[in-house]
Amino acid sequence: MRTPRLVMLGKQGAGKGTQAERVADYYGIVHLSTGDLFRRQAESGSAFALEAKRYMDAGELVPDDIVIGVVEECLRDGGPLSGGFVLDGFPRTTEQADALERLLGERPLDIVVHLEVAREIVVERMRSRAREDDTDDAIERRLELYDRETRPIIEYYEDLGRIVEIDGVGSLEEVFERIVGAVDGRSAVSAG
Ligand code: AMP
Repeated sequence: MRTPRLVMLGKQGAGKGTQAERVADYYGIVHLSTGDLFRRQAESGSAFALEAKRYMDAGELVPDDIVIGVVEECLRDGGPLSGGFVLDGFPRTTEQADALERLLGERPLDIVVHLEVAREIVVERMRSRAREDDTDDAIERRLELYDRETRPIIEYYEDLGRIVEIDGVGSLEEVFERIVGAVDGRSAVSAG
């Protein structure tokens, strides 16, 4: 079976990153978190990275042209995303989702996993992980942005018939099994 190309959607704190890492290991595909990429780049201190960091620290979305440019670079032939992958934290807006469809061309996404976790649960999780950009204000702002900018992406992928809803509450293992079940089920359908 060909390696899958998938996107993980869900609120910050829904467990996307942890699950995306396990899914990447399991299928032998690349895990790309745009948030991690921006955080790593911020350490480099370049002007572009510092610009992205300003948005991140305020809990705002980094502008689409910057984010799409970074992902486009990773998708080029021979780039880290030229085979199978799991994207985590991208796309976050319908402009980004559109750009991704266009960039993937003839080898589109196999499946979009929507990890569902209630708002109260993610707020608690984010508070307890205490990352530098996880202040109370930034958490609230990101959830607000999620509702406004990212929810429409779920509808976008629903229309394309790519979305699968996964209950994100449970042990790491339980949630992982649900995701793999959905991805394998989808691959079996595409192969048949
Ligand atoms: P994350 O680690 O996914 O929670 O991302 C941390 C921060 O990076 C976000 O709050 C945004 O400021 C920025 N970021 C990451 N991915 C994107 C994206 N696809 N579009 C816009 N901003 C992003």
